[in-house]
Amino acid sequence: MPLRTDTFDLGGLRLSSGEGRRLDLHVAIEPFELGGEPYAVEPRVVPAQLDVSRTTGAGYALRLGFEATLNGPCMRCLSPAEPVFQVTAREVSQPGEGDELESPYVRDGVLDLRAWARDALALTVPTQVLCRSDCAGLCPVCGEDLNLAGDDHAHEPEPDPRWAKLSELRFD
Ligand SMILES: [Zn+2]
Ligand SMILES: [Zn+2]
Repeated sequence: MPLRTDTFDLGGLRLSSGEGRRLDLHVAIEPFELGGEPYAVEPRVVPAQLDVSRTTGAGYALRLGFEATLNGPCMRCLSPAEPVFQVTAREVSQPGEGDELESPYVRDGVLDLRAWARDALALTVPTQVLCRSDCAGLCPVCGEDLNLAGDDHAHEPEPDPRWAKLSELRFD
């Protein structure tokens, strides 16, 4: 298993202003819980690309890119879903130049790669995790998987109770 990076010391790169470096790292991302169901992130250790650019002073512009798969039940039909997500995230850390230029993931020149990668994936995952975008879901009447049931799956409409009452009337 490749060596994983939880935190990365940006200062250790010793970049001067305007200099940049691309790094190939590996990051572990904790499983997610969505709608009460666990979703594992695969692979266990995700290959990630980190672009670091030194700005002015103690500042950095960062770009993170990786691809990860979520593994858990489809929220419509409950069969296994393995959607793949392409994640791209950017951060600017320019200490001492206002809150909007402070990155929550950089402290004293050290990047919390693990926290950033997890948050970036969480922001990319849609509210509904599906086995495929046009998943037909389960039949609301009998619970059968409509992806397998075929287009002709249907139920007799429930008789309207008012008509049932009428049919009990006798016309002599
Ligand atoms: Zn589904
Ligand atoms: Zn049905």
